[in-house]
Amino acid sequence: MTSVTITGISKSYQAGVPVLKPIDLTIQAGELFFLLGPSGCGKSTLLRILAGLVEPDGGSIRFNGREITRLPAEKRRAAMVFQNYALWPHLTVFENVAFGLRAEGADNAKIRKEVADALELVQLADCAERKIPSLSGGQQQRVALARALAMRPDLLLLDEPLSNLDARLRDTMRREIRRIAKERELTAIYVTHDRQEALSMADRLAVMHQGILQQVGAPEEVYNLPVNRFVAGFLGDANFIDGTVTENGLFRSHFGEFQLAPTAFRPETGRKITAAIRPERIRFAAQKGAHTFSAKLTDRTFLGECCEWKFDADGLALEVTESAPPMRRIGDVCELEFDPGHLIALQG
Ligand code: ADP
Ligand code: MG
Repeated sequence: MTSVTITGISKSYQAGVPVLKPIDLTIQAGELFFLLGPSGCGKSTLLRILAGLVEPDGGSIRFNGREITRLPAEKRRAAMVFQNYALWPHLTVFENVAFGLRAEGADNAKIRKEVADALELVQLADCAERKIPSLSGGQQQRVALARALAMRPDLLLLDEPLSNLDARLRDTMRREIRRIAKERELTAIYVTHDRQEALSMADRLAVMHQGILQQVGAPEEVYNLPVNRFVAGFLGDANFIDGTVTENGLFRSHFGEFQLAPTAFRPETGRKITAAIRPERIRFAAQKGAHTFSAKLTDRTFLGECCEWKFDADGLALEVTESAPPMRRIGDVCELEFDPGHLIALQG
């Protein structure tokens, strides 16, 4: 298993337009790590730098403590799976999966064994002699994965590998890729713009925006305790509330004073900040109390498993989701409360 240490990696393709601001990141051996961010934020560039396909302007990369920044791609023992699969259409599944091993000069016995193992792992053992165009999109994706696995890489790099598949297949493949990464004890770095993919699969993830890692942590941590507005909004729906920090450390908004979650960020008294709360962390209060506030119901959407409610809290639009909604009519004034520990002070 390989750990990856990225120190001060920077890149611009065009002078004055930085794509990666100096990036520092350590990925543990055996970790399934995600780079999550919107299109154009620099995810693929960082992945390609790790693979040795793009040269960084500055900084260093170490695999297991060994400096590999200038090592050619083929010497890194890193295998990449691309979004468009990049398979050879005129070759069989077997030959596609064998491709890298042949290029390395592996002998036939080794090639047969590694290809068979890899096809077994992706559940395509029966398809070895098929041609690529005869396979479904999901099967082609599995071939691309098998080709990477057959190289027995120390590091598996995946760049939006599931984005060409339909939703149902994507769901199955998420589980499959995680199973395979864990079974082979791989260190894997997975790039996606899909928050559900990252939240459901990652051991840890980095949220990336404009060439900067905004936050790194476990999925629950990044979702529940976002450090800034971008992370809060990119990982899910969020209500943003402006206010001030009071003498006793409460958050004062124009519709009430509330306890902030105990996070590492402790803004000083009097500071104007924005706080975030997720819609599922606001509840209908049983009765008016010290920590409740009133808001007028403005809209309601029934979604089956839950209901989305829109409120006006003294001029501020709030979104609330609740699974067991009480009967309320548009225009009703309701008493609401925040789940304690879920109102997050944001750093920007
Ligand atoms: P992501 O994978 O997050 O969508 P990329 O790393 O592909 O982001 O791209 C980041 C930025 O760098 C984008 O603005 C993109 O247009 C630009 N870019 C990517 N590759 C190249 C290249 N080979 N030459 C010039 N600009 C590039
Ligand atoms: Mg990309």
